[in-house]
Amino acid sequence: MSVIPRIVVLGGGFAGLTLCTQLDALASEGLAQVTLVERTPSMSVGGLNQFVLRRQVHASDVPMRYSGGTELRCPSVRFLCDEVTDINVKEREVHTRSEVLDYDYLAIATGATYAPEVIPGLATSAYNICSLQDTLQLRDALDRFQGGRIVMSIPQLPYKCPPAPQEFILIVETLLREAGNGLREKTDLVFTTEAEGPFPLTTFFKKRFEDYGIRIVEFAPVKEVETNKKRLVFGTGRDGNCAEPMSFDLLMATFPLAAPSAFQSLCDASRLIPSDPRSMRTEWDGVWALGDCARMILTSGPMHPKAGGFAVVQAEALAENLEALVRSDSKSDAGAENLGISKCDAEVGNNEGAMVSVNLMGGPTSQFDLGPVTKEAVEDKLQWIRDSLEVWFKKKPKF
Ligand SMILES: Cc1cc2nc3c(=O)[nH]c(=O)nc-3n(C[C@H](O)[C@H](O)[C@H](O)COP(=O)(O)OP(=O)(O)OC[C@H]3O[C@@H](n4cnc5c(N)ncnc54)[C@H](O)[C@@H]3O)c2cc1C
Repeated sequence: MSVIPRIVVLGGGFAGLTLCTQLDALASEGLAQVTLVERTPSMSVGGLNQFVLRRQVHASDVPMRYSGGTELRCPSVRFLCDEVTDINVKEREVHTRSEVLDYDYLAIATGATYAPEVIPGLATSAYNICSLQDTLQLRDALDRFQGGRIVMSIPQLPYKCPPAPQEFILIVETLLREAGNGLREKTDLVFTTEAEGPFPLTTFFKKRFEDYGIRIVEFAPVKEVETNKKRLVFGTGRDGNCAEPMSFDLLMATFPLAAPSAFQSLCDASRLIPSDPRSMRTEWDGVWALGDCARMILTSGPMHPKAGGFAVVQAEALAENLEALVRSDSKSDAGAENLGISKCDAEVGNNEGAMVSVNLMGGPTSQFDLGPVTKEAVEDKLQWIRDSLEVWFKKKPKF
């Protein structure tokens, strides 16, 4: 351990920015040397894709520039715009394209990238709803769409933001109705998922889909997308059955996840980094993994779902624990009581939304509650994104 502990944070997204904003005090007091490594010059919030799809937010207003860190509310943290290429946990080194950084404490918060190659044909056939570029192309395709079948598919678990696919297909349903000319009547909408129906709030979303004429095909993992035939081919689901192949005219999908390639040596078969949902610790001393890059298994059985709200509470808890370590206080668990708790508005179609409240670890099973369905909830969601960004950035978002 160096005289002043070196804390290296990898990834300037929900988790990394929350962590650095909170660790800034330690750095400004000279108690720790904190470095944030981020490979891109700006941050793009995935939750804005829905607003871009419905033309409420301009795509050009989505990226928030870090401006070499000068725009961030953590002035005492060193910002390094560079890509991590390797980690050596034995030597406690992070390799970037330009530097080797030694660390005493390492927080891996690099989010998840996509591994569409796991499902042949997926990348060339589907719009990835998690990509801003694909969302723009999807919007153009919808403008040209004259009728047929639109499928929203969750081909494999896990994926980012559990309600996002439900939001996308319900927004598309609204857009088709608003387009007029009977376009909605000329369109068959289908939602396929590896899970047992839409998750979370399965009962609510099943009813909502029924009300808006969206068919559900559940327990349907996708084995292959036949690009030429425009057809989804399913494998055997957890119910032991294999759904019939499904043709489509337009396909939206979540893509299988993977931690960025530099971290694959730390991953298990899930392509994510195993870490403890209560402490974010990995099996390596002084290394934590949090947010979307982590594979955390809940005591109730399933994998911890991925959402910005969870990444934030994990980062807050880790910041408190790192601060306690650096200040040599007795080990603190402060903040840990909020782990797995999140609240966020979700769009539910018809230009309406509702607040989803989640507590993953408060009882033997995860709890999901839904507030009243209102028009205001859609704007509330946008405001939540603005408020989140203003915690990390000095400048206000343009949307
Ligand atoms: C369409 C969509 C809608 C969503 N809606 C919501 C919502 O309504 N509510 C909600 O709570 N969550 C939502 N989410 C999920 C949320 O965006 C993610 O869960 C959250 O961003 C995860 O935070 P993170 O810090 O783990 O990763 P990220 O925010 O993805 O940040 C990771 C950062 O690491 C950087 N990085 C990656 N590899 C490297 C490398 N090798 N070297 C250096 N830097 C690297 C990346 O550039 C990135 O900036 C949504 C996601 C999508 C895609």
